[in-house]
Amino acid sequence: MKTVRLPSGENVPALGMGTWQMGDAPGARQEEVATLRLGLDLGARLIDTAEMYGQGQAEQLVGEALKGRRDEAFLVSKVLPSNASRPGVLAACERSLRRLQTDRLDLYLLHWRGAVPLAETMAAFVELQRAGKIRHYGVSNLDLAAMQEAASLPGGQAIATDQLLYHLSRRDIEWDLLPWLRQHRLPVMAYSPLAQARLVEDSKLTSFSRRHGLTPAQAALAWLLAKDDIIVIPKTGRRQRLKENLGALDHPLTNAQLSELDRLFPPPSRPRSLEML
Ligand code: NAP
Repeated sequence: MKTVRLPSGENVPALGMGTWQMGDAPGARQEEVATLRLGLDLGARLIDTAEMYGQGQAEQLVGEALKGRRDEAFLVSKVLPSNASRPGVLAACERSLRRLQTDRLDLYLLHWRGAVPLAETMAAFVELQRAGKIRHYGVSNLDLAAMQEAASLPGGQAIATDQLLYHLSRRDIEWDLLPWLRQHRLPVMAYSPLAQARLVEDSKLTSFSRRHGLTPAQAALAWLLAKDDIIVIPKTGRRQRLKENLGALDHPLTNAQLSELDRLFPPPSRPRSLEML
């Protein structure tokens, strides 16, 4: 498995697994758990979840999938902005740990910025890290100005990542945020890398994929995997699709293919405010 280096020097899988909407449909649960376990077998050891997903149901499902296998996974969860005060973060983390049936998170993120000052959330993250409840911490959906502010706070230098909406048809972060993160050696976790399955149906991408002998999902993921500092977290609750998605690693794109994708899905030509889901 290709890896991406966190600022701490630890390497994590470049292709992990998202879990938004897992646990929502009782009939799909068994296959979703089996998919996460297959992902561990196949090296997609990074699992991204959040207290928000299904109001804790996704974390519960992840806990079930990790039974007896916790040490194999790099486990990421997120705290809601409404819980981002010092006592709120400490309590939310305990609840997540309980649902996930574990004693520590590998990475804990602020899901997006809310009303609580970033300084207070950072201080709570530092406290949790000292207590051994989280190994690393970071943020999500922070734009350039918020990232600059967060990095300047006590504890801000240890931020491990900014998890951001990033896929072929949403490349806005390339304007200024991604260059700044690169300058500070901060990897990005690219969420919704398939544009929530819209890219799989995109006529430009389906025709590109047909011409180059890979599936549209593989093309979308391979485009992100071509960058050394992007962790990609597609979600699927189906084992067959997981195998297909992991196949992106077997199809590294050539410079000519990357240029073709640049023509089909152009990079930004002006700044735009950060989009999030
Ligand atoms: P995504 O990964 O772009 O797409 C997921 C959708 O694509 C699901 O409907 C899935 O359906 C389908 N899919 C997956 N592989 C496929 C394939 N090979 N062929 C056809 N369809 C396929 O969207 P996402 O779930 O929004 O993003 C990924 C993860 O990022 C989330 O699960 C979550 O962990 C994280 N995220 C974070 C934030 C944030 O604010 N930080 C926001 C959004 C998402 P099936 O499951 O039925 O296969």
